[in-house]
Amino acid sequence: MPGTNDRQRKTNHFLLIESSEHLPARMMSHDENRRWNGDIFSPGQVFNLNTLFIFLDARAVADFNRLHERLALATAKEVYGKLASDGGSVKSCFHGYKSGRMPREIPMPSFPGVDFLEFDALLSDEEKLARKTARLFVDEKLLPIIVEHDREGKFPMQLVPEMAELGFFGASLKGYGCAEMSNVEYGLVTQELERGDSGLRSFVSVQSALVMYPIHAFGTDAQKQRWLPLLQRGQAIGCFGLTEPQFGSNPAGMLTRAVKKGDSYILDGEKMWITNGTIAHVAVIWAKGDDQKIRGFLVEKDTPGFKAWAIHGKQSLRASVTAGLAMTNCKIPAENLLPGVEGLRGPLSCLNQARYGIGWGAIGAAMACYDAALNYAKQRKQFENRPIASHQLVQEKLVWMITEITKAQFLALQVGRLKDQGRVHPSHISMLKMNNVWMAREIARMAREILGANGIVDDACVMRHMNNLESVYTYEGTHDIHKLVIGERITGIAAFV
Ligand SMILES: Cc1cc2nc3c(=O)[nH]c(=O)nc-3n(C[C@H](O)[C@H](O)[C@H](O)COP(=O)(O)OP(=O)(O)OC[C@H]3O[C@@H](n4cnc5c(N)ncnc54)[C@H](O)[C@@H]3O)c2cc1C
Repeated sequence: MPGTNDRQRKTNHFLLIESSEHLPARMMSHDENRRWNGDIFSPGQVFNLNTLFIFLDARAVADFNRLHERLALATAKEVYGKLASDGGSVKSCFHGYKSGRMPREIPMPSFPGVDFLEFDALLSDEEKLARKTARLFVDEKLLPIIVEHDREGKFPMQLVPEMAELGFFGASLKGYGCAEMSNVEYGLVTQELERGDSGLRSFVSVQSALVMYPIHAFGTDAQKQRWLPLLQRGQAIGCFGLTEPQFGSNPAGMLTRAVKKGDSYILDGEKMWITNGTIAHVAVIWAKGDDQKIRGFLVEKDTPGFKAWAIHGKQSLRASVTAGLAMTNCKIPAENLLPGVEGLRGPLSCLNQARYGIGWGAIGAAMACYDAALNYAKQRKQFENRPIASHQLVQEKLVWMITEITKAQFLALQVGRLKDQGRVHPSHISMLKMNNVWMAREIARMAREILGANGIVDDACVMRHMNNLESVYTYEGTHDIHKLVIGERITGIAAFV
């Protein structure tokens, strides 16, 4: 049970209850409100005669989470019934994650999750609610459209405003309108997003970890004020340019140059495989100066000499934009330098943030494939009209999958807890990314086997996840590069060269 202080702590969660009749006038009184709701809810705010806006405290979040397992309207009625003794007819109930944001409707219960070993018992109510918010968003908004977007090779841009409203961008950063989630909450959000599609999770990772994070950590006050609120609200999109055509795993070799001339920098060079490249308003570009030190620069999309072009023909991450960037005599103001960092530490610290989210995200892709395989195996009948799940060879695959998902969950949670306590080492994050993306890639392939021929069409999600995971396995440090990071940590010997 949370203590009194926890109970009183305000959260970022709220409910909006809409009634078909006018709410009783006495509900407008804060004192009365407290008495009616048995101190579960903090005072409500009436927006008009039919709506009540309730900010939830920690205990209310717990209560809401419990109630939320039932049908949405029943939940709303129950909550409303607590508030108004004479009952009322509830039209709808909305839940929002961040105060001041537009609320969203609570739909029917969705994906049940995968929890073999009481993993959920280790999560706080707020962590579960963050996951549920992302889960519902994916079920309602992404899954109905993802196949079409994947087929057409199109990023679902229409989802950006709602993701912003739900606080997904820069979710774990402080201030500037960010949701200020813990690292575990943020990880659970990326898990759910990638259960939908790795492309959408990639968008959120780039926006949050590779663009907002470096501006937040290394930018000037003016850069933060200008860009962070826009990026958080999804009114600006960012991209991160580190990889070059000749330098991927070894970014230290980069050829892009930034030469200081008076109060400007002149950038020349090329970047490759850049997520969001053609849709970004601002690019974080990593370039070497005359002193050979790597620094970060903010390059705005319309800067003369800056060009972004889409990479076509991808068989992976089709619902994500991937681009090449070219900078030719590209002049930017000197104040666009990110002054707070020099050397590879700059881009690598951003990658650490993003890799952390990927480690969780991969669990989501694995869960989607496992869920599809399990359901299919129970329904598909072969040989004497028995489900294929009745065969030991099929069960062996399903058991391997759930075992690996379970191990991956505990690994992610421990890395997240260490990160929240400021005790995580980059090699911990390497292990998370390396292991979890590998296990998701294996599970996607195994799930495709279980689905037989049906597994190769995009009505089933498994082949899309399988193809996506090929990119995820390679980007943000390939699987083998992470092995080398961990190898260096345990032996003290770098084996990169
Ligand atoms: C869809 C997608 C989106 C991306 N988005 C971005 C982005 O937004 N921004 C960005 O900057 N980059 C992005 N990347 C680039 C990505 O980070 C690189 O592809 C990755 O770092 C690997 O580089 P590479 O492809 O050049 O492979 P290489 O570095 O050429 O590696 C090829 C192979 O050699 C192996 N290898 C390399 N060096 C060693 C070694 N020392 N020992 C053992 N094996 C080694 C690798 O493990 C790999 O298997 C993206 C890539 C993809 C596919």
